[in-house]
This record gives sequence, C-alpha cells and structure tokens, in this order.
Amino acid sequence: MVHKNDNKVFLDRLRKVISSDNLVEDREGLKVYRKDGLAGYSGDPLVVAIPNSEAQTSKILKICSEFSVPVVTRGAGTGLSGGATPIKDCLVLSTARMNKVISINEEQRSATVQPGVRNLEISNKVSGLGLFYAPDPSSQIACSIGGNLAENSGGVHCLKYGLTFHNVLRARVLNYRGEVFEVGSEALDSPGLDLLALLIGSEGMLGVITEITVKLLPKPSAAKVMMASFDDVEIAANAVANIISNGILPAGLEMMDQGMTAAVEEFVHAGYDVNAEAILLCESDGSPGEVEEEISLIKDIFQSSGATKLSVSNSEAERSLIWSGRKNAFPASGRISPDYYCIDGTIPRNKLGKMLKNISELEKKYSLRCLNVFHAGDGNLHPLILFDASKDGEFEKTENFGEEILSLCVKYGGTITGEHGVGLEKLGSMCVQFSKLERDAFFSVKRSFDPEILLNPGKVVPSLSRCIEKGRVHVEKDKERFPEIAHF
Ligand SMILES: Cc1cc2nc3c(=O)[nH]c(=O)nc-3n(C[C@H](O)[C@H](O)[C@H](O)COP(=O)(O)OP(=O)(O)OC[C@H]3O[C@@H](n4cnc5c(N)ncnc54)[C@H](O)[C@@H]3O)c2cc1C
Repeated sequence: MVHKNDNKVFLDRLRKVISSDNLVEDREGLKVYRKDGLAGYSGDPLVVAIPNSEAQTSKILKICSEFSVPVVTRGAGTGLSGGATPIKDCLVLSTARMNKVISINEEQRSATVQPGVRNLEISNKVSGLGLFYAPDPSSQIACSIGGNLAENSGGVHCLKYGLTFHNVLRARVLNYRGEVFEVGSEALDSPGLDLLALLIGSEGMLGVITEITVKLLPKPSAAKVMMASFDDVEIAANAVANIISNGILPAGLEMMDQGMTAAVEEFVHAGYDVNAEAILLCESDGSPGEVEEEISLIKDIFQSSGATKLSVSNSEAERSLIWSGRKNAFPASGRISPDYYCIDGTIPRNKLGKMLKNISELEKKYSLRCLNVFHAGDGNLHPLILFDASKDGEFEKTENFGEEILSLCVKYGGTITGEHGVGLEKLGSMCVQFSKLERDAFFSVKRSFDPEILLNPGKVVPSLSRCIEKGRVHVEKDKERFPEIAHF
C-alpha cells in the first residue's frame, strides 16, 4: 500500500514517469517558483514539474492524487493575488512548455492553443489574417492564456470587447486525478450546465486547463486615442460617466491621477500632461469614418465635462506610445518606490470620484503614497500603494490600507476584484463581500470538482472558520495548515 504524504516515495514514483528534464528539485531551481506577482507572499514547493503535453500532465496529476500531494498550477507567474504561490510540499505544475498554437481556424475565427501560450502571441500569430485576440492585460507580453482563463483577465480593450470570459469558446481540462474533460464548444451555445463559465476565473481550484479555443475578432482598420486633461479628479470621473451615458462605447477608457502620470512620463515619455490632476485616455476604433465621427463626439463630451486640454493621436506610432505609457504604469511605480502593492477592485463608475477622495484620506491615515490608474470605463480600480518592505510593519500597514479600499468597494456596491482574482490576497475581503450561504455554495462547487481538495488548496474560498467577527469581519491567517506562506 502507498504511504500517503511520503515525499520520498512520491518523488521516486514521479521520476519513474517524468524525465528529469521536466522536473525541478534542487533548492536554487525551486526558489524561482516561490512567488508570483504578489511579492509579499512566498512558499516552498516540494517539486516543480514542467510537462510538455497534456498526457504527461495527466500522469503527474494521477500520482499527486494517489499520494495526496497538493498541486498549484502556474502559468507565467504574473498573477497579482498569489494564485500561483506554492503551499508547503506541493507540486507546482508549470505550463511553460505547453506553449504551442495548435491550430488557427480562419473561417470560424478561432484559435486553439496550449495553456502556456503568451497572450500577445495569439494576436501576433493572426495579425497577418487581419484578426486579433481582444483581451489585453497590461502583462500580455508575458502572461499565459491558461493564467488569463483561470483569472478571467481583463485589459484596456475589455470595455468594448469583453473580458476573457466573453472571448473563450471551449477548453480541455484535467481533473485532480488527471482525467480529461471538455467544457464549452466551438458553436455559440453548448448543451448542459455551463461548466466553461465555472472554469473561467476558478484560479486553478477546479482543474488544470490544457487546451483553449479562443475567439478571434477582425482587426479594426482605424484607431485613435484622445488624451484629456482635468484639474480635478472628480470632474474627470464624471466625464467618464458622461461618455458612457451618451451611448458611446469606446475601445478603451482609462484614467490616471497626477502621481501616476508623473511616474509614467518619467519612464516612458508618452507625452502625458503631468500638470493635470487627472488624465483620461479614450480610444475609438472602427472604420476611418466611424473613428472620426466618434472622436468628434468624445471631444465635445470631454469639453462640456470640463476638460482643460485635449489632444488626439496623429499616427499609429503616437497611439502606441500613449498606450505604452498606460501599460507600463506598474513598472513605472516600481522605479520610484522600493515596493508597490497593486489593489484591484471594482465600483460603479459614478463612484470613481468619491473613491479617489477616500483614497487620498487613507494616504494620510497610513502615511503611505498611493498612485491611481483605472480601467475607468469598467469602474475597475488599480490603486498602487508605495511602500518599503524592509521597514518593520510597513507591509502589514499596506495590506490594511488595501483592505480598507476593498471594503469601500463593497460599500459602494462594487466588488473586491475586477480582474486579478482572489488568490491568497483577498481571502479576508471575501468574508466582507459574501455571506456564509454564498461561501458555502463556493465550497460545494470546489468539492464537486476536487473532493480531496488537492488543487490550489487554501486559495480563493476562505474556510468557514476563517471568517470571524472581530470588530469588523476579519480573517485569521490559517497558520496551522499553511504556515509556509510567509509574509515579507
Ligand atoms: C505588470 C502587470 C500588469 C498586469 N496587468 C493586468 C491587466 O491589465 N489585467 C489583468 O487582468 N491582469 C493583469 N495582471 C495580472 C496577471 O498578469 C493576470 O492575472 C494573468 O492572467 C496571469 O497569468 P499567468 O500566466 O501569469 O498566471 P499565473 O500567475 O501563473 O497564475 C494565475 C492563476 O491561474 C492559475 N492557472 C494558471 N494556469 C492555469 C492552467 N493552465 N489551468 C488552471 N489554472 C491555471 C494559477 O493556479 C493561479 O491561480 C498584471 C500583472 C502584472 C505583473
């Protein structure tokens, strides 16, 4: 009989099935996998497996389930909520080598890819056909499509074209025992319960995604971006609401406050107005005629909303430069502070101005600076709190600052995540957002896919004992089960 949790026997068994080229076992090699983009948390895996195929992945999962070894699937590790952070003695399952574009179906306008394919690679591959894959997280140069599915990632162009959820047709998935099943279909509808919808955004808790068919869209023939300056963040926020309420659905509508534009401008030299209290970037795409007409409407709305300065991109190079600034907002923050912590929450658009005022009060309360960048059209906030992890207690202070922002999101009728998932980071805030009944339902779903709780355990759904009342709803970190997940 197999000794459960016997690491040595487990590793011997794994080595028999998987070549040493596909395993990382040495201390130095394992260090690379200790964290994802949520730098404040880390954990030590027992072993990392980097399979080349679904068949190999299946064998690995089978052995893990036999030995009750937890599995943390990892795409590119750019996740910002700790979803790919290892838990003690787990197997990290990296999809990095499952990185092939399997087929492109021009007629059907779809592409079938392995999970480790980078987001941007899909658009690059089909660009010659006049097509593109719409969801464009700012990390698209690095992040994997499997990670995008698991997080239901968004991006600048999701306001018009939808999130990952709206752009995926089907997926092949392995369950915790390595058995394969398919969800969704290449047709517009598929029979039965919508398991694809459940899988999207499930953060590696329900299965390992091994193949994905995404929708491709025709590339618009023209696009221009308008940059608008405002001398008050609340006025800028109202301008966002005015654009949408006037029936315009821009390809992107982003907002940055003065601190953020200054940091970006110093890094990218995108031509941003660093004197404005806030800037808005609003993109129109379509045929040249449609773009001219829409840009003219957008200009009128911004002017009547109180914009102090307006400019429009005059070439593709200028447009790319303006977006490159926005997409480099996180690294730009990293240049001016030893550490930064990106918060992700969503609020109704008409609360953006109020929220910015609240954040500025919280900056004073915690004596920490916060730069703000938003997918404003979606009401998705990304406050970046600047801190120094080497200073005693500063990370904890930063986490509390972040939790207060998330609680305000709930108070304003929004959600504690927009696109970065829950992972480890927002377990506490899950207790603020969801009732016991709702959390019970999440658990039931998890158990029906993974009855032995082997896939990414301890993430996303707080255990019932975690949500306790302590003045405010508060989460105790489950030190007993996950002592290995360390803070800075
Ligand atoms: C600079 C920067 C900018 C970013 N900008 C954006 C943005 O604009 N929009 C946005 O939405 N996000 C953004 N992110 C967050 C991150 O890039 C996304 O969440 C992305 O989808 C993660 O992909 P990944 O391949 O790195 O996944 P990982 O970080 O490796 O994993 C993320 C989660 O997915 C699970 N997972 C990964 N692959 C699979 C699989 N094949 N099967 C099952 N589960 C899997 C993991 O277990 C984990 O829970 C940004 C991150 C950075 C660092």
